[in-house]
Amino acid sequence: MGAKDLKFNTKTIHGGQQPDAAYGAVMPPIYQTSTYAQSTPGEHKGYEYSRSANPTRTALENALASIEGGNYGLAFGSGLAAIDAVIKLLSPGDEVISTNDLYGGSYRIFKKIFEKFGIIFHFVGMQGVDAIKEKINVNTKLIWVETPTNPMMNIIDIRAVADLVEHTEIILAVDNTFATPYLQLPLHLGADIVMHSATKYLGGHSDTVVGALVVKDKELAERLYFIQNASGAICGPMDSFLVLRGIKTLHVRMQRHCENGRAVAEYLRSNPKIEKVYWPGFVDHPNHEIAKVQMNDFGGMISFVPKGGSYEDAIKIVERLQVFTLAESLGGVESLAGHPASMTHASIPKEEREKSGVVDALIRLSVGIEDVEDLIADLEQAID
Ligand SMILES: *Cc1c(COP(=O)(O)O)cnc(C)c1O
Repeated sequence: MGAKDLKFNTKTIHGGQQPDAAYGAVMPPIYQTSTYAQSTPGEHKGYEYSRSANPTRTALENALASIEGGNYGLAFGSGLAAIDAVIKLLSPGDEVISTNDLYGGSYRIFKKIFEKFGIIFHFVGMQGVDAIKEKINVNTKLIWVETPTNPMMNIIDIRAVADLVEHTEIILAVDNTFATPYLQLPLHLGADIVMHSATKYLGGHSDTVVGALVVKDKELAERLYFIQNASGAICGPMDSFLVLRGIKTLHVRMQRHCENGRAVAEYLRSNPKIEKVYWPGFVDHPNHEIAKVQMNDFGGMISFVPKGGSYEDAIKIVERLQVFTLAESLGGVESLAGHPASMTHASIPKEEREKSGVVDALIRLSVGIEDVEDLIADLEQAID
């Protein structure tokens, strides 16, 4: 049976993997080396210099390709390094249409790094494709989608966006960090590139910073590989090993993240001190129908606003939490809480931020895989 026929939970463990050729090690060794012996100039065993390729990184890249249903994986030193490589496909004058409700670091690299190289970014609400259509012109080269969005948990219909660009040269890239391939497969829905901050759910243990791209198309993979090697923002062997190990339990972790996420979302909604809860699993979430079709479950990311909440109220709640750790990031086994307005989204101007709902009192939770009773009790005492 080919690896392509394997089901998802089998792929997370075996996809693209073989026992190591040298001694049969079941987990790929951490090839902590920069270079490789050659028998005569140009004669080597497939590796010559670790920026270009490293066997531990190759094992991770193959695993990434397998779980996302792609043909080629590329691992980078961070999620932002992966995004950087995608934007380097473009030239001055090219235009990008991006989600307006976007990871703060993605917004920052677009606006503060690439705009000065003459690339033009448009930020639009992507709940309907009309807003995207309006911005498309001959210079449009890339559409950047993040779904569920961060931190507002809006859902963008990937297939509808893919249909819009199907017979064009426009590349559709999807940041799949929040959903992971356990919940949604953008390449199957028509995207050209899947991007990950593997720092989050794929790694899953808050112990490394890694980025990834996965594509189906060979020519696109070659162009991205050229950039990866030429710009050099690669993922090291130790970090490759850690993410590989994380991926092997992705499906069991995600299952629990989703179960706990549902329980926490329902608890928050039932709490009269809470004004608003953002989670795509609610049947009255504005994009619930799309979420149901495009995702296998609804994940463990939740945002909420306390009733009559101010900036100070939100700060007080996150300070009081004890099981939830107040920290940047998400997707690890431990529950984290964040305050977007002062943390992840501080680099987005207040006006821009509030347009998409990131008000001062908004709190974002990454619900971990602890006993959910403890998580709910912790929220209860912090909100009281
Ligand atoms: C964290 C994150 C990134 C950036 O990834 P790093 O690994 O921190 O560089 C991009 N997109 C989303 C949705 C993220 O959560």
